Amino acid sequence: MTLRVGIIGAGPSGMAQLRAFESARKKGADIPEIMCFEKQGDWGGQWNSSWRTGLDEHGEPVHSSMYRHLWSNGPKECLEFSDYSFDEHFGRAISSFPPREVLFDYIKGRVEKSDVRKYVQFNTVARHTSYNAETEEFTLTVENLANGTTTDHVFDKLVVSTGHFSIPEVPEFKGINSFPGEVLHAHDFRGAERFAAKNLLMIGSSYSAEDIGMQAHKMGAASVTFSYRTAPMGFDWPENTVERPLVTHFKGRTAHFSDGTQGEFDAVVLCTGYQHKYPFLPSELTLKSKNVLYPANLYKGVVWQQNTNLFYLGAQDQYYTFNMFDAQAWYARDVMIGAIELPSLAEREADIQLWLERQSALPDHNAEADFQSDYLRELIAATDYPPFDLDSVSQLFKDWMSHKETDILGYRDMVHRSVVTGTMATKHHTRWLNAMDDSLGRYLHGPSQDVDTGTLAAVTGEFSAK
Ligand code: FAD
Ligand code: NAP
Repeated sequence: MTLRVGIIGAGPSGMAQLRAFESARKKGADIPEIMCFEKQGDWGGQWNSSWRTGLDEHGEPVHSSMYRHLWSNGPKECLEFSDYSFDEHFGRAISSFPPREVLFDYIKGRVEKSDVRKYVQFNTVARHTSYNAETEEFTLTVENLANGTTTDHVFDKLVVSTGHFSIPEVPEFKGINSFPGEVLHAHDFRGAERFAAKNLLMIGSSYSAEDIGMQAHKMGAASVTFSYRTAPMGFDWPENTVERPLVTHFKGRTAHFSDGTQGEFDAVVLCTGYQHKYPFLPSELTLKSKNVLYPANLYKGVVWQQNTNLFYLGAQDQYYTFNMFDAQAWYARDVMIGAIELPSLAEREADIQLWLERQSALPDHNAEADFQSDYLRELIAATDYPPFDLDSVSQLFKDWMSHKETDILGYRDMVHRSVVTGTMATKHHTRWLNAMDDSLGRYLHGPSQDVDTGTLAAVTGEFSAK
């Protein structure tokens, strides 16, 4: 009987799984029966974002945490598909830090070139899963959100690719209940324009805090204060930007910090991260993890230890993104079709433990980037995913982090070289700080209204229309 594979979620990870099977099919392999379920009306996951917050048009939690003016926060050269380059997609070199719509276009372009959309049932949410250990079959109940109909599907293999940056982690702070200004989590943030002339408090010290804080600065916030739990970010911040230790309590619009300082704020953004949440899975199949580079219980970061018919993609914290999801999807595919034979439970556990020990000793961000490069190295060596120069990508991550140290408002204006094509990125026509239109058209076809006296004249005419 043909193998039946169910994929939950058609974000970049789910799309990678579809492409992995398509790649095998093109090479003449028999591929399984595939069904993919996506609760949104289109694929792209986080990159398919909208203005909505809270609940979507079907009353389901809005998935994407992305927002207007979101530009890639890492060099695109670090996430490039090794079998579909940026050059191939755009027909020319582009800058290293494109905005959301440009990256969305890129990931869609790659799957649209193959005939895999037919596998995806859109507006269809996974509701419930059971596993029959005797028959080794999953029964997945999905709901068609357009008409409310539920259907059961039986699979031999199940791939969970529903992401883990969607359900916010929302801690409590004494007195925040009576804070008279706006309080929101980063998940619900859609744009910083309304923070112009406001005093903003960001709780958290990771990517969301940094980016939303600097968005607010870009949009003219009066001040930005970051409050950290473990350690400050320590960047060379622009004026009117400070870091404080954790808020102890609020009194009215005054926040009190644990170092005894205090400040008055108009709005609070909780940039406190996200929860791994898989409400459609029974507890024995559910990954419970913090946002870490190597979640426990997943062999090679992908295969569920106690049931090797279950796979998680993209479940780790991410330096690499799209190309890591590919490496995982290729690996999962080969386990599913038997091209990779798994070692025993004990051997798998020993392997996981080695990675966990190494993870717990990582001294800094540079070592974290190397760690994830080594992880990809193992995955890629096991499959026919086209290899790429991981050492060079590791170096790109380090250069990027060093640029952030030097200039937190300017690192996105830097250019990097593709390890896939060797192409050097072009300088964007408008500095990130001055770019007030993040649309695909504007990105590709050049400036017309952004004011950027420094670089505009030098680069006008650099891009020809696609
Ligand atoms: P997701 O993109 O989250 O996709 C999961 C999919 O599963 C979604 O389409 C969702 O609708 C679907 N789904 C969820 N539950 C169900 C269900 N029950 N049934 C059916 N479908 C379901 N990465 C970068 O490389 N560069 C960046 O600049 C960058 N910026 C980011 C900014 C923000 C604010 C966030 C939150 C993330 C950012 N990322 C960035 C990381 C991003 O998470 C990954 O790039 C990528 O989107 C992860 O892909 P995924 O498919 O694993 O998950
Ligand atoms: P994250 O990296 O998981 O960081 C969560 C932060 O919340 C940490 O600083 C953590 O502090 C803090 N935190 C958690 N609980 C807290 C509590 N109770 N009190 C105080 N602080 C608390 O999450 P994220 O920053 O939202 O990033 C998620 C993903 O989105 C990343 O992949 C990132 O790259 C992406 N992103 C990208 C962009 C972009 O510009 N393209 C923008 C935003 C986000 P500790 O350090 O103490 O644990």
